Amino acid sequence: SPLRGVVRVRKTEVSNEEKIGEGAFGQVSRADVFPYGDVAIKWIKPEHIAKHSDAFLVEADILANLNHPNIVRMLGVVTSPPAGDNAGDCNGGAATGVSDPVVGIVTEFVGNGTLGQVVRSPSGRLSTRQCARIALQVALGMAYLHSQSPAIVHFDLKPENVLIQGEGENMVAKIADFGLSKPKHGKYVSCPMPRGTLPYMAPEVVFGNGEVSEKVDVYSMGVTLWQLHTGEEPFMRLSNQEILMGLESGTLHLPIPSTCDPEWRSLVETCMDPNPDNRPSFRELATQLRGILNNKARTVNT
Ligand code: ATP
Repeated sequence: SPLRGVVRVRKTEVSNEEKIGEGAFGQVSRADVFPYGDVAIKWIKPEHIAKHSDAFLVEADILANLNHPNIVRMLGVVTSPPAGDNAGDCNGGAATGVSDPVVGIVTEFVGNGTLGQVVRSPSGRLSTRQCARIALQVALGMAYLHSQSPAIVHFDLKPENVLIQGEGENMVAKIADFGLSKPKHGKYVSCPMPRGTLPYMAPEVVFGNGEVSEKVDVYSMGVTLWQLHTGEEPFMRLSNQEILMGLESGTLHLPIPSTCDPEWRSLVETCMDPNPDNRPSFRELATQLRGILNNKARTVNT
């Protein structure tokens, strides 16, 4: 059954709540929840419960089974008795809140903003070494996600969905927002409609036959690697229409500066290969990023 063994937090146990973000179906708050202390809670908006509570449960259920240093840690779910329900009237479940609808997902609070914010801030510009360290962490988290059985395809990997904990050499990246994620049973996962964020979407997500593989996340990683290196937003000067046309005709290219490390350039290019089978796995990517990181260490030491 979904969310088996997951901690249920009553709404009344949440205190010192402060809104920190807003999404399509939810709102994200920072709050205190005993005995965890500082947490983030993603709430489903009341007006979306009827239509989207199933998707919200899927997101919670995916996160509940993940345990990796580079993936945001889920601590529990918030349940709330439906309005007008006299809790405890009909069954024991209602009294303990176990059968109450899930209205919030509680995760560790990751305090230093998103990777997107870090890349944008002029003071936060990352050195090549820092880029490689963060990219390696993201690759390891993604490799873990893809190594689950069934593999979990994220579908919305981008710097805005990577949270940052700590600063400088202590920065840790944590992949977040599993709202579009899907388990892949078999060779493909069904993707009848495009899902994700356009500049990061692989061509087969938009123009494919509705069946894609986990390699869609590797394409998104390629765009993310480019963004880490340049500090720019991808395809900034293009309209959505122009991005779509370029993606369809295979003429869409991110300009890689000539000063770019050749190894980094080749990572961006192979990750964004139009043919998913030519893209590396996150495991291979992690090995290559580790190589880049070690080369950089040598350059600094000698
Ligand atoms: P979107 O529609 O933008 O994808 P969403 O509703 O799917 O948003 P998230 O992307 O999970 O929600 O979170 C929205 C924002 O809330 C994040 O960009 C981040 O700034 C903040 N946030 C989410 N989770 C955490 C966390 N665990 N710790 C700190 N901040 C968080």
